[in-house]
Amino acid sequence: MSEIDSNQEGFKSGFIALIGRPNVGKSTFINKFVGEKIAITSPIAQTTRNRLKVILTNEKSQIIFVDTPGIHKPHHLLGERLVHSAKRSIGEVDGVLVVFEASHSPGRGDAFILNLIRNLKIPVIVVLNKWDLLELSQFKERKKEYSDLFEGTNWPVFCCSALTGHGCNELISAIEEQLPLGPQLYPSNMTCDHPEKFLMAEFIREQVLINTREEVPHSVAVSIDKVEDIPSKKTSNRNSRTGILATICVEKKSQKGILIGKGGAMLKKIGQESRLQIQTLINGNVYLELFVKVVPDWRSKSSRLNEFGYEGS
Ligand code: GDP
Ligand code: MG
Repeated sequence: MSEIDSNQEGFKSGFIALIGRPNVGKSTFINKFVGEKIAITSPIAQTTRNRLKVILTNEKSQIIFVDTPGIHKPHHLLGERLVHSAKRSIGEVDGVLVVFEASHSPGRGDAFILNLIRNLKIPVIVVLNKWDLLELSQFKERKKEYSDLFEGTNWPVFCCSALTGHGCNELISAIEEQLPLGPQLYPSNMTCDHPEKFLMAEFIREQVLINTREEVPHSVAVSIDKVEDIPSKKTSNRNSRTGILATICVEKKSQKGILIGKGGAMLKKIGQESRLQIQTLINGNVYLELFVKVVPDWRSKSSRLNEFGYEGS
């Protein structure tokens, strides 16, 4: 992208928090908006743990999306920190994009979210996501059910699909309209505020979540222990590889067993799939070595949470 003159008159910039229950598609939206995979997504709730900033820049504006963990009732220390982190995001942004899952009628969890943001002084835009899952005959009724939920607010409501991209351009235009005037805050070619190492760990964690489903998910943390260039042995071949050493931490021995799988099959699958994602990220060949370690009860230990990057208060 060519350099943008952000001092031009009328340039807008601002931070927009994505708020919503777990699994409604917040991370999928973020990836769709910037056209590349940054936030990890999965069919399992509570995939997003850290607040990730994803940056969308064009000639007229720069939108910085803050992806938050879904808001839910906390059950342990990690859960509490996730909710705290999401709530804090709301206090630090210029606008809120609140995402609901339109494939079902609004319920108590949706009312909880609504109460959390009802009295905000900043602009709020509502997105009814997963519109692709609805039958044509359901459109009108579902939109009315949600409009009733937001009665008394003047929030615009958009029906979208983060998966297909339906309605996403209109949504971005609406967000741009709400942004305050301001300078470009990040370089034009920067799409994410986290270092590549963090994204690598997230891609590995995502494959763990996808492949092991209910058995392991919430007790997994990934650390990237080493990233190094492996020069090619043949002088004629300039394609060097990047060697990555990573450790997957779980809480129980039984979980370690599941992760490794029969004859190492599960770990191999996780390694192969996350390697492909990392190759796309760094645009080069990757040699990935994964280890599995048992760290009992890491989620309840404050020091461990800090080590894995989950912010405290
Ligand atoms: P988050 O917890 O709110 O960040 O949700 P994710 O972005 O991780 O998405 C949760 C699941 O919903 C994933 O399996 C996504 O593929 C799926 N999903 C997200 N958006 C859509 C959509 O518009 N349509 C459909 N059919 N699925 C979606
Ligand atoms: Mg997410």
